[in-house]
Amino acid sequence: MKEYPLEFNGIKIDPIIFTQGFVPGCNMKLCHGQCCNWGVYMDKPFKEVIMKFENEIKEVMDEHQTKDTSKWFETELEQDEDFPSGWAVGTELYVTPQGVSQCVFKDKRGFCSIQVAADKNHMHKWAIKPKYCIMYPLTIIDNVLTYDDDHATKLDYCGIHKKENFSQTVFEAMTEEITFVLGADGYAYLNDYYKKQYKHKKNFS
Ligand code: SF4
Repeated sequence: MKEYPLEFNGIKIDPIIFTQGFVPGCNMKLCHGQCCNWGVYMDKPFKEVIMKFENEIKEVMDEHQTKDTSKWFETELEQDEDFPSGWAVGTELYVTPQGVSQCVFKDKRGFCSIQVAADKNHMHKWAIKPKYCIMYPLTIIDNVLTYDDDHATKLDYCGIHKKENFSQTVFEAMTEEITFVLGADGYAYLNDYYKKQYKHKKNFS
């Protein structure tokens, strides 16, 4: 079993996040939100958080997205201990007029209607967005914060095989996201470690 010497608040940290390369940032003009084409899993109770804002979300959806909420979430749950309740629920997919399959919440511009609704209603942009959407390209698997190399194999701009587009490490790219997930203390702890162990090397792969 792999050992992870670094840990914060019970979450183990895979050092790959300090060396894996990433693009300068998400760029919707280049990637069109491709990472949303497979939907996402979230903790089962989080579905109710989203559903509290169903009207606000419907209001910002485009003409191709379904406003029938019975088609927003998968009906079968997945047992998964990485989620606090032990159960995960997935978002459903739909096919666009261009024949692209994508998350029900992704609009024709590539934006997430959950985030657009939050923004429009003066909430934090991530207040009602599933945690694993916020975190990508990071993920938590078996209680280890790591790089989502599985999802990254599918992506044409920021994917694992697109080294020519990389300009920084995943850790450097994800300041806001890591702070959101681990808190300011968690980010400061990892950043201190990163500066001591990795930053002077200035390399990523
Ligand atoms: S919920 Fe939003 S961010 Fe997450 S996969 Fe769907 S469209 Fe993308």
